[in-house]
Amino acid sequence: MSGTREKLTLPNGGDKLLLHSCCAPCSGELMEAFVESGIDYTIFFYNPNIHPLKEYELRKQENIRFAEKHGVPFVDADYDTDNWFARAKGMENEPERGIRCTMCFDMRFERSALYAHKHGFKVMTSSPGISRWKNMAQINDCGHRAAAPYDGLTYWDYNWRKGGGSSRMIEISKREQFYQQEYCGCVYSLRDSNRHRVAQGRGKIKFGVLFYGDETG
Ligand code: SF4
Repeated sequence: MSGTREKLTLPNGGDKLLLHSCCAPCSGELMEAFVESGIDYTIFFYNPNIHPLKEYELRKQENIRFAEKHGVPFVDADYDTDNWFARAKGMENEPERGIRCTMCFDMRFERSALYAHKHGFKVMTSSPGISRWKNMAQINDCGHRAAAPYDGLTYWDYNWRKGGGSSRMIEISKREQFYQQEYCGCVYSLRDSNRHRVAQGRGKIKFGVLFYGDETG
């Protein structure tokens, strides 16, 4: 495996961690790092942004499969797409990493923070920041904003890409043959990715066909 993981310790004197996970490929490296460091953690899967339902189920089931492999609790939260679309109204044509994405992370982390608060977690973090397609500073801002209303709750803004984390993310995904999503998640990112592909003479995205490490996918 690439690089060496440092021994992790939870900030804020926390004894257990809530991990907001967006998908198995992004959370795989975090999950293995927590196991290696002996950190007690729970996965919180709240991603009503993912569209369509078929893609949502593919991503969720892949994450459940890996959580079960590690014996990690998995909280399967709501798929309240109406609320997501209500908050996204007027932002349909915003670019990725723009204000629609800030709203999207805010919404998912707010629910994660509420769950953390209600269930005695002093520390929460999230997986999407490990992806090179994401703006880590934007994600960290959203995480801190979500945790701020709750006394004693900290958003852990660890840089999961460093020390070989980005490479290990891909290595784990290939080893586990995770489902490989080809767009961020929402219907607008699907639309924009398809436009880009069509302009390049490629076909539109097909759901459920591409897996890491599967050259025929
Ligand atoms: S592009 Fe991704 S982060 Fe941005 S709004 Fe869509 S699903 Fe959310």
